[in-house]
Amino acid sequence: MLWSAYRETFRGQDAKVRMKLRRRKFLGGFNRFRLMLTLGLAVLLPAAALIYVNFSQLRAIERDKGIEAIFNREFQEVLAITEKRINKKAYTMTEEARDLFPSPDSDTQEKERKLDLILAQKPWLSHAFLYDEKGLVFRSQPGLMADKYFREEHDHMTESYRLWFGKEAKMQVEGIHKRSRGISFSGGPVKREYGDAYLAGAMFVLPQTSSDRLVLGGVAFEGCYLKGILFQEILDEMVSQKATDQGGNRLAMMVYPADMEMGKEIKPLAVSPGGWGEGKPEVSRKFDDVFRGLALGIKFQGTSVEALGRTWVHRSFLILACLSLVIVGGLVLTKHIVSKEMALARLKSDFVSNVSHELRTPLALIRLYAETLELGRITTQEKKQQYYRIIRKESERLTALINNILDFSRIEAGRKEYEFRETNIAELVHNTLDSYRYQIEQQGFAFEESIDSNLPPVRVDREAIARALVNLVNNALKYSTDEKFLGVKLYRENGVLKLEVADRGIGIARRDQSKIFEKFYRTGDPLVHNTKGSGLGLSLVRHITQAHGGEIAVESTPGKGSKFTLSLPLASSGSMSEARA
Ligand code: ADP
Repeated sequence: MLWSAYRETFRGQDAKVRMKLRRRKFLGGFNRFRLMLTLGLAVLLPAAALIYVNFSQLRAIERDKGIEAIFNREFQEVLAITEKRINKKAYTMTEEARDLFPSPDSDTQEKERKLDLILAQKPWLSHAFLYDEKGLVFRSQPGLMADKYFREEHDHMTESYRLWFGKEAKMQVEGIHKRSRGISFSGGPVKREYGDAYLAGAMFVLPQTSSDRLVLGGVAFEGCYLKGILFQEILDEMVSQKATDQGGNRLAMMVYPADMEMGKEIKPLAVSPGGWGEGKPEVSRKFDDVFRGLALGIKFQGTSVEALGRTWVHRSFLILACLSLVIVGGLVLTKHIVSKEMALARLKSDFVSNVSHELRTPLALIRLYAETLELGRITTQEKKQQYYRIIRKESERLTALINNILDFSRIEAGRKEYEFRETNIAELVHNTLDSYRYQIEQQGFAFEESIDSNLPPVRVDREAIARALVNLVNNALKYSTDEKFLGVKLYRENGVLKLEVADRGIGIARRDQSKIFEKFYRTGDPLVHNTKGSGLGLSLVRHITQAHGGEIAVESTPGKGSKFTLSLPLASSGSMSEARA
Protein backbone atom coordinates (compact mmCIF):
# COMPACT_ATOMS: atom_id res chain seq x y z
CA MET A 1 0.00 0.00 0.00
CA LEU A 2 2.83 2.31 0.89
CA TRP A 3 4.67 1.53 -2.32
CA SER A 4 1.64 2.38 -4.40
CA ALA A 5 1.25 5.67 -2.49
CA TYR A 6 4.89 6.38 -3.14
CA ARG A 7 4.57 5.59 -6.79
CA GLU A 8 1.48 7.79 -7.09
CA THR A 9 3.34 10.66 -5.44
CA PHE A 10 6.33 10.44 -7.79
CA ARG A 11 4.79 9.35 -11.03
CA GLY A 12 3.37 12.85 -11.47
CA GLN A 13 6.69 14.38 -10.53
CA ASP A 14 8.61 12.21 -13.01
CA ALA A 15 6.28 13.37 -15.77
CA LYS A 16 6.91 16.98 -14.71
CA VAL A 17 10.66 16.43 -14.76
CA ARG A 18 10.44 14.94 -18.23
CA MET A 19 8.42 17.90 -19.41
CA LYS A 20 10.96 20.29 -17.90
CA LEU A 21 13.79 18.45 -19.60
CA ARG A 22 12.00 18.64 -22.93
CA ARG A 23 11.35 22.36 -22.44
CA ARG A 24 14.97 22.94 -21.47
CA LYS A 25 16.11 20.99 -24.50
CA PHE A 26 13.90 23.14 -26.68
CA LEU A 27 15.13 26.36 -25.06
CA GLY A 28 18.73 25.13 -25.37
CA GLY A 29 18.19 24.54 -29.08
CA PHE A 30 16.63 27.98 -29.45
CA ASN A 31 19.54 29.68 -27.64
CA ARG A 32 21.96 27.79 -29.80
CA PHE A 33 20.12 28.95 -32.90
CA ARG A 34 20.21 32.54 -31.62
CA LEU A 35 23.93 32.26 -30.96
CA MET A 36 24.58 30.90 -34.43
CA LEU A 37 22.47 33.69 -35.92
CA THR A 38 24.42 36.34 -33.98
CA LEU A 39 27.75 34.78 -34.90
CA GLY A 40 26.63 34.55 -38.51
CA LEU A 41 25.21 38.06 -38.87
CA ALA A 42 27.52 40.05 -36.61
CA VAL A 43 30.81 38.31 -37.21
CA LEU A 44 30.84 35.80 -40.04
CA LEU A 45 29.12 37.97 -42.65
CA PRO A 46 31.24 41.12 -42.06
CA ALA A 47 34.40 39.00 -41.92
CA ALA A 48 33.50 37.21 -45.16
CA ALA A 49 32.60 40.55 -46.81
CA LEU A 50 35.90 42.06 -45.67
CA ILE A 51 37.87 39.12 -47.02
CA TYR A 52 35.92 39.20 -50.30
CA VAL A 53 36.37 42.97 -50.79
CA ASN A 54 40.09 42.75 -50.06
CA PHE A 55 40.44 39.79 -52.34
CA SER A 56 38.68 41.52 -55.26
CA GLN A 57 40.70 44.69 -54.69
CA LEU A 58 43.90 42.69 -54.87
CA ARG A 59 42.67 41.01 -58.06
CA ALA A 60 41.90 44.43 -59.55
CA ILE A 61 45.36 45.73 -58.59
CA GLU A 62 46.93 42.63 -60.14
CA ARG A 63 44.84 42.96 -63.33
CA ASP A 64 45.31 46.71 -63.81
CA LYS A 65 48.99 46.50 -62.89
CA GLY A 66 48.27 49.04 -60.15
CA ILE A 67 51.62 48.67 -58.40
CA GLU A 68 53.52 49.13 -61.67
CA ALA A 69 51.48 52.28 -62.34
CA ILE A 70 52.39 53.68 -58.91
CA PHE A 71 56.08 53.00 -59.48
CA ASN A 72 55.92 54.55 -62.97
CA ARG A 73 54.27 57.69 -61.63
CA GLU A 74 56.93 57.91 -58.98
CA PHE A 75 59.65 57.43 -61.60
CA GLN A 76 58.21 60.16 -63.80
CA GLU A 77 58.24 62.49 -60.85
CA VAL A 78 61.88 61.66 -60.05
CA LEU A 79 62.88 62.28 -63.66
CA ALA A 80 61.03 65.62 -63.78
CA ILE A 81 62.79 66.78 -60.61
CA THR A 82 66.15 65.59 -61.96
CA GLU A 83 65.68 67.52 -65.21
CA LYS A 84 64.66 70.61 -63.29
CA ARG A 85 67.78 70.43 -61.12
CA ILE A 86 70.06 69.83 -64.11
CA ASN A 87 68.49 72.75 -65.95
CA LYS A 88 68.84 75.01 -62.96
CA LYS A 89 72.50 74.16 -62.64
CA ALA A 90 73.11 74.62 -66.38
CA TYR A 91 71.51 78.10 -66.25
CA THR A 92 73.65 79.01 -63.23
CA MET A 93 76.85 77.80 -64.93
CA THR A 94 75.97 79.75 -68.08
CA GLU A 95 75.23 82.88 -66.07
CA GLU A 96 78.53 82.54 -64.22
CA ALA A 97 80.35 82.43 -67.57
CA ARG A 98 78.25 85.31 -68.96
CA ASP A 99 79.17 87.52 -66.00
CA LEU A 100 82.80 87.21 -67.03
CA PHE A 101 82.10 88.22 -70.67
CA PRO A 102 83.94 91.27 -72.07
CA SER A 103 82.04 94.41 -72.96
CA PRO A 104 81.12 94.61 -76.67
CA ASP A 105 82.70 98.04 -76.66
CA SER A 106 86.21 96.77 -75.81
CA ASP A 107 88.68 96.14 -78.62
CA THR A 108 89.12 92.74 -80.29
CA GLN A 109 92.30 91.92 -78.40
CA GLU A 110 90.64 92.58 -75.07
CA LYS A 111 87.67 90.48 -76.12
CA GLU A 112 89.97 87.58 -77.09
CA ARG A 113 91.90 87.86 -73.86
CA LYS A 114 88.77 87.82 -71.73
CA LEU A 115 87.19 84.91 -73.63
CA ASP A 116 90.45 82.92 -73.28
CA LEU A 117 90.40 83.64 -69.57
CA ILE A 118 86.87 82.29 -69.28
CA LEU A 119 87.90 79.11 -71.15
CA ALA A 120 90.91 78.70 -68.85
CA GLN A 121 88.81 79.14 -65.72
CA LYS A 122 86.07 76.81 -66.91
CA PRO A 123 87.64 73.82 -68.62
CA TRP A 124 84.24 72.22 -69.31
CA LEU A 125 83.54 74.94 -71.87
CA SER A 126 84.75 74.05 -75.39
CA HIS A 127 83.94 77.34 -77.17
CA ALA A 128 83.10 80.93 -76.19
CA PHE A 129 82.13 83.65 -78.62
CA LEU A 130 80.97 87.26 -78.71
CA TYR A 131 79.21 88.81 -81.67
CA ASP A 132 78.48 92.52 -81.99
CA GLU A 133 78.16 95.10 -84.62
CA LYS A 134 81.95 94.96 -85.15
CA GLY A 135 82.01 91.27 -85.94
CA LEU A 136 82.56 87.85 -84.33
CA VAL A 137 85.23 86.84 -81.84
CA PHE A 138 85.23 83.04 -81.56
CA ARG A 139 87.62 81.30 -79.15
CA SER A 140 87.98 77.58 -78.42
CA GLN A 141 89.51 75.56 -75.59
CA PRO A 142 93.23 75.38 -76.43
CA GLY A 143 93.64 72.03 -74.67
CA LEU A 144 91.15 70.43 -77.04
CA MET A 145 92.72 71.82 -80.24
CA ALA A 146 94.92 68.72 -80.51
CA ASP A 147 91.80 66.77 -81.50
CA LYS A 148 91.40 67.00 -85.24
CA TYR A 149 87.60 66.84 -85.09
CA PHE A 150 87.57 69.61 -82.52
CA ARG A 151 89.79 71.79 -84.73
CA GLU A 152 87.47 71.20 -87.67
CA GLU A 153 84.53 72.01 -85.44
CA HIS A 154 86.23 75.30 -84.40
CA ASP A 155 86.90 76.31 -87.99
CA HIS A 156 83.43 75.31 -89.12
CA MET A 157 81.65 77.11 -86.30
CA THR A 158 83.71 80.27 -86.69
CA GLU A 159 82.84 80.41 -90.36
CA SER A 160 79.20 79.44 -90.15
CA TYR A 161 78.44 81.68 -87.12
CA ARG A 162 79.97 84.65 -88.95
CA LEU A 163 77.72 84.04 -91.94
CA TRP A 164 74.69 83.18 -89.86
CA PHE A 165 74.88 86.15 -87.49
CA GLY A 166 75.62 88.45 -90.48
CA LYS A 167 72.16 87.59 -91.75
CA GLU A 168 70.11 86.73 -88.71
CA ALA A 169 71.69 88.37 -85.65
CA LYS A 170 68.80 90.78 -85.25
CA MET A 171 66.22 88.02 -85.26
CA GLN A 172 68.28 85.97 -82.83
CA VAL A 173 68.73 88.86 -80.40
CA GLU A 174 64.98 89.56 -80.44
CA GLY A 175 64.22 85.87 -79.90
CA ILE A 176 66.65 85.49 -77.01
CA HIS A 177 65.42 88.61 -75.29
CA LYS A 178 62.01 86.96 -75.04
CA ARG A 179 63.41 83.82 -73.42
CA SER A 180 63.64 83.29 -69.66
CA ARG A 181 66.86 84.67 -68.20
CA GLY A 182 67.93 85.77 -71.71
CA ILE A 183 69.52 82.43 -72.55
CA SER A 184 68.73 79.96 -75.32
CA PHE A 185 70.09 76.43 -75.33
CA SER A 186 70.67 73.97 -78.15
CA GLY A 187 72.62 70.76 -78.40
CA GLY A 188 73.53 67.77 -80.46
CA PRO A 189 76.02 65.01 -81.21
CA VAL A 190 79.57 65.86 -82.29
CA LYS A 191 82.63 63.84 -83.17
CA ARG A 192 85.89 63.55 -81.27
CA GLU A 193 88.91 61.41 -81.84
CA TYR A 194 87.89 59.16 -78.94
CA GLY A 195 84.42 58.65 -80.44
CA ASP A 196 80.92 60.13 -80.40
CA ALA A 197 80.38 63.07 -78.07
CA TYR A 198 77.72 65.58 -77.15
CA LEU A 199 77.91 69.35 -77.28
CA ALA A 200 75.42 71.71 -75.61
CA GLY A 201 75.43 75.33 -76.63
CA ALA A 202 74.06 78.35 -74.76
CA MET A 203 73.48 81.61 -76.57
CA PHE A 204 72.62 84.76 -74.61
CA VAL A 205 72.33 88.49 -74.62
CA LEU A 206 74.49 90.48 -72.21
CA PRO A 207 72.30 91.96 -69.51
CA GLN A 208 74.33 95.16 -69.25
CA THR A 209 73.91 96.06 -72.95
CA SER A 210 70.79 97.70 -74.28
CA SER A 211 68.26 95.51 -76.04
CA ASP A 212 68.39 97.38 -79.33
CA ARG A 213 72.07 96.53 -79.86
CA LEU A 214 73.06 93.50 -81.86
CA VAL A 215 75.17 91.81 -79.22
CA LEU A 216 75.19 88.02 -78.74
CA GLY A 217 77.38 85.89 -76.53
CA GLY A 218 77.66 82.15 -76.27
CA VAL A 219 79.42 79.21 -74.71
CA ALA A 220 79.43 75.52 -75.59
CA PHE A 221 79.55 72.81 -72.93
CA GLU A 222 81.75 69.81 -73.72
CA GLY A 223 79.66 66.71 -72.97
CA CYS A 224 82.37 64.60 -71.40
CA TYR A 225 83.22 67.36 -68.90
CA LEU A 226 79.59 68.05 -68.14
CA LYS A 227 79.21 64.44 -67.17
CA GLY A 228 81.51 64.86 -64.16
CA ILE A 229 80.48 68.26 -62.89
CA LEU A 230 76.79 68.34 -63.61
CA PHE A 231 75.00 65.14 -64.54
CA GLN A 232 76.91 62.87 -62.20
CA GLU A 233 76.50 65.12 -59.21
CA ILE A 234 72.75 65.46 -59.63
CA LEU A 235 72.19 61.77 -60.40
CA ASP A 236 74.14 60.87 -57.22
CA GLU A 237 72.07 63.30 -55.23
CA MET A 238 68.74 61.99 -56.55
CA VAL A 239 69.60 58.32 -56.11
CA SER A 240 70.86 58.67 -52.55
CA GLN A 241 67.86 60.84 -51.65
CA LYS A 242 65.43 58.23 -53.02
CA ALA A 243 67.34 55.22 -51.66
CA THR A 244 65.44 55.27 -48.38
CA ASP A 245 62.02 55.94 -49.98
CA GLN A 246 61.93 52.91 -52.25
CA GLY A 247 61.78 50.18 -49.63
CA GLY A 248 65.37 49.02 -49.99
CA ASN A 249 65.43 48.90 -53.79
CA ARG A 250 68.16 51.23 -55.03
CA LEU A 251 67.51 53.26 -58.14
CA ALA A 252 69.67 53.33 -61.24
CA MET A 253 69.57 56.49 -63.38
CA MET A 254 71.37 57.59 -66.51
CA VAL A 255 71.69 60.41 -69.01
CA TYR A 256 71.94 59.17 -72.60
CA PRO A 257 71.55 60.42 -76.15
CA ALA A 258 67.82 60.58 -76.84
CA ASP A 259 68.03 59.46 -80.44
CA MET A 260 69.47 56.02 -79.64
CA GLU A 261 67.82 53.59 -82.01
CA MET A 262 65.37 51.13 -80.54
CA GLY A 263 66.96 47.80 -79.75
CA LYS A 264 70.47 49.24 -79.94
CA GLU A 265 72.57 49.12 -76.83
CA ILE A 266 72.37 52.43 -75.01
CA LYS A 267 75.68 54.22 -74.44
CA PRO A 268 75.05 56.38 -71.42
CA LEU A 269 76.71 59.75 -70.95
CA ALA A 270 76.46 59.56 -67.17
CA VAL A 271 75.26 56.82 -64.81
CA SER A 272 74.30 56.95 -61.14
CA PRO A 273 76.59 55.18 -58.63
CA GLY A 274 76.28 51.40 -58.62
CA GLY A 275 76.07 51.37 -62.42
CA TRP A 276 73.10 50.82 -64.70
CA GLY A 277 73.21 47.04 -65.03
CA GLU A 278 71.16 45.24 -67.62
CA GLY A 279 68.06 46.28 -69.47
CA LYS A 280 66.15 49.28 -70.69
CA PRO A 281 64.87 52.19 -68.58
CA GLU A 282 61.47 51.59 -66.96
CA VAL A 283 60.65 55.25 -67.65
CA SER A 284 62.57 57.77 -69.75
CA ARG A 285 62.25 61.50 -70.30
CA LYS A 286 63.70 63.64 -73.08
CA PHE A 287 65.26 66.94 -72.02
CA ASP A 288 63.18 69.61 -73.65
CA ASP A 289 64.90 72.83 -72.71
CA VAL A 290 68.59 72.87 -71.90
CA PHE A 291 70.06 69.60 -73.08
CA ARG A 292 67.83 68.90 -76.02
CA GLY A 293 68.95 65.67 -77.69
CA LEU A 294 69.66 63.96 -74.36
CA ALA A 295 67.30 61.85 -72.28
CA LEU A 296 67.06 60.64 -68.69
CA GLY A 297 66.37 56.99 -67.89
CA ILE A 298 65.43 55.32 -64.61
CA LYS A 299 64.91 51.80 -63.28
CA PHE A 300 65.51 49.72 -60.18
CA GLN A 301 68.87 48.15 -59.64
CA GLY A 302 68.77 44.36 -59.86
CA THR A 303 65.00 44.09 -60.25
CA SER A 304 62.14 45.30 -62.40
CA VAL A 305 58.93 47.10 -61.58
CA GLU A 306 57.00 44.14 -62.96
CA ALA A 307 58.81 41.72 -60.64
CA LEU A 308 58.24 44.04 -57.68
CA GLY A 309 54.55 44.37 -58.54
CA ARG A 310 54.24 40.60 -58.82
CA THR A 311 55.99 40.04 -55.49
CA TRP A 312 53.83 42.65 -53.80
CA VAL A 313 50.60 41.11 -55.10
CA HIS A 314 51.71 37.59 -54.15
CA ARG A 315 52.72 38.71 -50.69
CA SER A 316 49.44 40.53 -50.19
CA PHE A 317 47.48 37.45 -51.28
CA LEU A 318 49.49 35.37 -48.84
CA ILE A 319 48.92 37.79 -45.97
CA LEU A 320 45.22 37.95 -46.81
CA ALA A 321 45.02 34.16 -46.88
CA CYS A 322 46.80 33.91 -43.51
CA LEU A 323 44.58 36.58 -41.95
CA SER A 324 41.48 34.88 -43.35
CA LEU A 325 42.63 31.63 -41.81
CA VAL A 326 43.17 33.35 -38.47
CA ILE A 327 39.68 34.90 -38.68
CA VAL A 328 38.09 31.57 -39.55
CA GLY A 329 40.11 29.85 -36.82
CA GLY A 330 39.05 32.52 -34.32
CA LEU A 331 35.42 32.10 -35.30
CA VAL A 332 35.55 28.34 -34.95
CA LEU A 333 37.24 28.71 -31.57
CA THR A 334 34.70 31.29 -30.40
CA LYS A 335 31.84 29.08 -31.48
CA HIS A 336 33.44 26.14 -29.72
CA ILE A 337 34.01 28.07 -26.48
CA VAL A 338 30.57 29.65 -26.47
CA SER A 339 28.89 26.29 -27.19
CA LYS A 340 30.89 24.74 -24.37
CA GLU A 341 29.90 27.52 -21.98
CA MET A 342 26.26 27.13 -23.01
CA ALA A 343 26.43 23.39 -22.52
CA LEU A 344 27.95 23.92 -19.08
CA ALA A 345 25.23 26.42 -18.17
CA ARG A 346 22.62 23.90 -19.29
CA LEU A 347 24.31 21.13 -17.31
CA LYS A 348 24.35 23.34 -14.23
CA SER A 349 20.66 24.08 -14.44
CA ASP A 350 19.96 20.36 -15.04
CA PHE A 351 22.09 19.68 -11.99
CA VAL A 352 20.02 21.96 -9.77
CA SER A 353 16.79 20.36 -10.88
CA ASN A 354 18.22 16.81 -10.61
CA VAL A 355 19.63 17.39 -7.16
CA SER A 356 16.46 18.92 -5.78
CA HIS A 357 14.52 16.04 -7.19
CA GLU A 358 16.96 13.54 -5.75
CA LEU A 359 16.79 15.19 -2.33
CA ARG A 360 13.04 15.16 -2.38
CA THR A 361 12.71 11.42 -3.08
CA PRO A 362 14.45 10.02 0.04
CA LEU A 363 12.97 12.79 2.20
CA ALA A 364 9.44 11.95 1.07
CA LEU A 365 10.06 8.26 1.67
CA ILE A 366 11.48 8.86 5.14
CA ARG A 367 8.47 11.03 6.03
CA LEU A 368 6.01 8.50 4.64
CA TYR A 369 7.50 5.56 6.58
CA ALA A 370 8.04 7.56 9.76
CA GLU A 371 4.40 8.81 9.69
CA THR A 372 3.14 5.28 9.14
CA LEU A 373 5.16 4.03 12.08
CA GLU A 374 4.01 6.98 14.21
CA LEU A 375 0.36 6.18 13.54
CA GLY A 376 1.04 2.80 15.15
CA ARG A 377 -0.67 0.89 12.38
CA ILE A 378 2.23 -1.48 11.93
CA THR A 379 1.90 -4.33 14.31
CA THR A 380 4.41 -6.97 13.31
CA GLN A 381 7.96 -6.53 14.52
CA GLU A 382 9.29 -7.81 11.19
CA LYS A 383 7.43 -5.11 9.22
CA LYS A 384 8.63 -2.46 11.65
CA GLN A 385 12.22 -3.62 11.15
CA GLN A 386 11.74 -3.39 7.39
CA TYR A 387 10.48 0.21 7.70
CA TYR A 388 13.37 1.19 9.97
CA ARG A 389 15.79 -0.27 7.44
CA ILE A 390 14.18 1.69 4.63
CA ILE A 391 14.40 4.89 6.66
CA ARG A 392 18.08 4.20 7.42
CA LYS A 393 18.85 3.34 3.81
CA GLU A 394 17.17 6.47 2.49
CA SER A 395 18.96 8.66 5.01
CA GLU A 396 22.22 6.99 3.93
CA ARG A 397 21.40 7.88 0.33
CA LEU A 398 20.75 11.44 1.43
CA THR A 399 24.06 11.57 3.29
CA ALA A 400 25.93 10.13 0.29
CA LEU A 401 24.37 12.71 -2.02
CA ILE A 402 25.06 15.61 0.33
CA ASN A 403 28.63 14.36 0.85
CA ASN A 404 29.11 14.28 -2.90
CA ILE A 405 27.84 17.84 -3.23
CA LEU A 406 29.95 19.06 -0.32
CA ASP A 407 33.04 17.35 -1.70
CA PHE A 408 32.36 18.82 -5.10
CA SER A 409 32.00 22.34 -3.73
CA ARG A 410 35.23 21.92 -1.75
CA ILE A 411 37.02 20.76 -4.89
CA GLU A 412 35.62 23.66 -6.90
CA ALA A 413 36.74 26.10 -4.21
CA GLY A 414 40.18 24.43 -4.07
CA ARG A 415 39.68 23.56 -0.42
CA LYS A 416 39.43 19.78 -0.59
CA GLU A 417 42.00 18.12 1.63
CA TYR A 418 42.85 14.44 1.82
CA GLU A 419 43.99 12.66 4.92
CA PHE A 420 46.27 9.79 3.98
CA ARG A 421 46.67 6.97 6.45
CA GLU A 422 48.21 3.51 6.32
CA THR A 423 45.26 1.33 5.37
CA ASN A 424 44.44 -2.28 4.77
CA ILE A 425 42.80 -1.64 1.45
CA ALA A 426 41.27 -5.12 1.14
CA GLU A 427 39.46 -4.61 4.41
CA LEU A 428 38.32 -1.12 3.43
CA VAL A 429 36.83 -2.35 0.15
CA HIS A 430 35.22 -5.36 1.78
CA ASN A 431 33.62 -3.34 4.59
CA THR A 432 32.35 -0.68 2.19
CA LEU A 433 30.73 -3.33 0.00
CA ASP A 434 29.29 -5.07 3.05
CA SER A 435 27.13 -2.12 3.94
CA TYR A 436 25.73 -2.24 0.42
CA ARG A 437 25.39 -5.98 0.13
CA TYR A 438 21.80 -6.05 1.31
CA GLN A 439 20.73 -3.31 -1.08
CA ILE A 440 22.55 -4.99 -3.97
CA GLU A 441 20.92 -8.31 -3.38
CA GLN A 442 17.53 -6.75 -2.66
CA GLN A 443 17.56 -5.22 -6.10
CA GLY A 444 18.11 -8.66 -7.57
CA PHE A 445 21.77 -8.24 -8.57
CA ALA A 446 24.14 -11.16 -8.92
CA PHE A 447 27.13 -9.95 -6.92
CA GLU A 448 30.67 -11.20 -7.41
CA GLU A 449 33.37 -9.99 -5.10
CA SER A 450 37.01 -10.90 -5.64
CA ILE A 451 39.46 -9.33 -3.25
CA ASP A 452 43.14 -10.24 -3.10
CA SER A 453 43.84 -10.52 0.61
CA ASN A 454 47.65 -10.45 0.20
CA LEU A 455 47.89 -6.79 -0.56
CA PRO A 456 50.37 -4.60 1.31
CA PRO A 457 49.06 -1.71 3.39
CA VAL A 458 48.74 1.50 1.40
CA ARG A 459 48.43 5.13 2.44
CA VAL A 460 45.06 6.39 1.27
CA ASP A 461 42.26 8.67 2.41
CA ARG A 462 39.85 5.98 3.55
CA GLU A 463 36.69 8.03 3.35
CA ALA A 464 37.56 9.26 -0.14
CA ILE A 465 38.35 5.78 -1.50
CA ALA A 466 35.16 4.41 0.04
CA ARG A 467 33.20 7.26 -1.55
CA ALA A 468 34.75 6.56 -4.96
CA LEU A 469 33.80 2.88 -4.65
CA VAL A 470 30.27 3.71 -3.51
CA ASN A 471 29.81 6.05 -6.47
CA LEU A 472 30.97 3.37 -8.92
CA VAL A 473 28.78 0.71 -7.31
CA ASN A 474 25.76 3.03 -7.22
CA ASN A 475 26.21 3.80 -10.92
CA ALA A 476 26.41 0.08 -11.74
CA LEU A 477 23.14 -0.44 -9.87
CA LYS A 478 21.46 2.62 -11.38
CA TYR A 479 22.40 1.96 -14.98
CA SER A 480 21.56 -1.75 -15.26
CA THR A 481 18.23 -2.95 -16.62
CA ASP A 482 17.85 -6.47 -17.97
CA GLU A 483 20.95 -8.27 -16.77
CA LYS A 484 21.64 -7.34 -13.19
CA PHE A 485 25.20 -8.15 -12.39
CA LEU A 486 27.80 -6.41 -10.26
CA GLY A 487 31.42 -7.51 -10.05
CA VAL A 488 34.01 -5.88 -7.83
CA LYS A 489 37.66 -6.92 -8.04
CA LEU A 490 40.66 -5.75 -6.06
CA TYR A 491 44.09 -6.99 -7.13
CA ARG A 492 47.61 -5.90 -7.85
CA GLU A 493 49.22 -5.85 -11.29
CA ASN A 494 52.76 -4.69 -12.09
CA GLY A 495 53.09 -2.68 -8.89
CA VAL A 496 49.71 -1.05 -9.42
CA LEU A 497 46.67 -1.58 -7.24
CA LYS A 498 43.53 -2.07 -9.32
CA LEU A 499 39.95 -1.74 -8.21
CA GLU A 500 37.45 -2.84 -10.85
CA VAL A 501 33.70 -2.28 -10.79
CA ALA A 502 31.87 -4.05 -13.63
CA ASP A 503 28.23 -4.29 -14.63
CA ARG A 504 26.21 -5.68 -17.55
CA GLY A 505 23.96 -2.65 -17.80
CA ILE A 506 23.17 -0.12 -20.52
CA GLY A 507 26.81 0.69 -21.29
CA ILE A 508 28.23 3.99 -22.51
CA ALA A 509 28.62 5.12 -26.14
CA ARG A 510 32.24 5.63 -27.21
CA ARG A 511 31.81 9.38 -27.77
CA ASP A 512 30.53 9.80 -24.20
CA GLN A 513 33.26 7.75 -22.55
CA SER A 514 35.73 10.63 -22.17
CA LYS A 515 33.02 13.12 -21.17
CA ILE A 516 31.36 11.24 -18.32
CA PHE A 517 34.19 12.25 -15.97
CA GLU A 518 33.40 15.94 -16.51
CA LYS A 519 31.32 17.65 -13.87
CA PHE A 520 27.55 17.69 -14.46
CA TYR A 521 27.86 15.50 -17.55
CA ARG A 522 25.15 12.91 -18.02
CA THR A 523 24.67 10.88 -21.20
CA GLY A 524 21.60 11.25 -23.39
CA ASP A 525 20.37 7.69 -22.75
CA PRO A 526 16.64 7.69 -21.82
CA LEU A 527 17.36 5.48 -18.82
CA VAL A 528 19.87 8.03 -17.55
CA HIS A 529 17.27 10.80 -17.86
CA ASN A 530 14.78 8.77 -15.92
CA THR A 531 17.32 7.93 -13.24
CA LYS A 532 18.15 10.38 -10.56
CA GLY A 533 21.66 11.71 -10.59
CA SER A 534 23.68 14.86 -10.29
CA GLY A 535 26.41 14.17 -12.84
CA LEU A 536 28.97 14.71 -10.08
CA GLY A 537 29.83 11.15 -9.03
CA LEU A 538 32.40 10.29 -11.68
CA SER A 539 34.04 13.71 -11.58
CA LEU A 540 34.57 13.13 -7.85
CA VAL A 541 35.91 9.62 -8.48
CA ARG A 542 38.39 11.04 -10.98
CA HIS A 543 39.46 13.78 -8.57
CA ILE A 544 39.95 11.33 -5.72
CA THR A 545 41.95 8.94 -7.94
CA GLN A 546 44.19 11.69 -9.25
CA ALA A 547 44.79 13.02 -5.74
CA HIS A 548 46.13 9.53 -4.93
CA GLY A 549 48.44 9.68 -7.95
CA GLY A 550 46.32 7.18 -9.85
CA GLU A 551 43.97 7.15 -12.79
CA ILE A 552 40.51 5.99 -13.74
CA ALA A 553 39.60 4.25 -16.97
CA VAL A 554 36.39 2.94 -18.48
CA GLU A 555 35.74 0.13 -20.93
CA SER A 556 32.19 -0.09 -22.12
CA THR A 557 30.00 -1.42 -24.88
CA PRO A 558 26.49 0.03 -25.22
CA GLY A 559 23.91 -2.61 -24.31
CA LYS A 560 26.54 -4.98 -22.91
CA GLY A 561 27.87 -3.21 -19.81
CA SER A 562 30.70 -1.18 -18.41
CA LYS A 563 33.87 -1.73 -16.43
CA PHE A 564 35.46 1.09 -14.45
CA THR A 565 39.06 0.48 -13.34
CA LEU A 566 40.64 2.60 -10.68
CA SER A 567 44.46 2.25 -10.65
CA LEU A 568 46.52 3.39 -7.69
CA PRO A 569 50.31 3.20 -7.70
CA LEU A 570 51.39 1.02 -4.78
CA ALA A 571 54.84 2.56 -4.35
CA SER A 572 53.96 6.22 -4.39
CA SER A 573 50.64 6.16 -2.58
CA GLY A 574 52.54 6.76 0.66
CA SER A 575 54.09 9.96 -0.60
CA MET A 576 50.75 11.55 -1.28
CA SER A 577 50.06 12.45 2.34
CA GLU A 578 50.38 16.18 1.62
CA ALA A 579 48.26 16.11 -1.50
CA ARG A 580 45.56 18.68 -1.68
CA ALA A 581 42.93 19.37 -4.24
P1 ADP B 1 25.15 10.58 -12.21
O1 ADP B 1 25.16 9.10 -12.10
O2 ADP B 1 24.75 11.24 -10.95
O3 ADP B 1 24.41 11.06 -13.40
P2 ADP B 1 28.00 10.30 -12.59
O4 ADP B 1 29.05 11.35 -12.67
O5 ADP B 1 28.15 9.26 -11.59
O6 ADP B 1 26.64 11.09 -12.45
O7 ADP B 1 27.92 9.64 -14.01
C1 ADP B 1 27.90 10.43 -15.17
C2 ADP B 1 27.17 9.73 -16.29
O8 ADP B 1 27.93 8.62 -16.74
C3 ADP B 1 25.86 9.16 -15.89
O9 ADP B 1 24.84 10.13 -15.96
C4 ADP B 1 25.67 8.05 -16.90
O10 ADP B 1 25.16 8.62 -18.11
C5 ADP B 1 27.08 7.55 -17.16
N1 ADP B 1 27.41 6.37 -16.36
C6 ADP B 1 28.14 6.34 -15.23
N2 ADP B 1 28.29 5.07 -14.78
C7 ADP B 1 27.66 4.27 -15.69
C8 ADP B 1 27.46 2.86 -15.81
N3 ADP B 1 27.93 2.00 -14.90
N4 ADP B 1 26.76 2.42 -16.87
C9 ADP B 1 26.27 3.26 -17.80
N5 ADP B 1 26.43 4.62 -17.74
C10 ADP B 1 27.11 5.12 -16.71
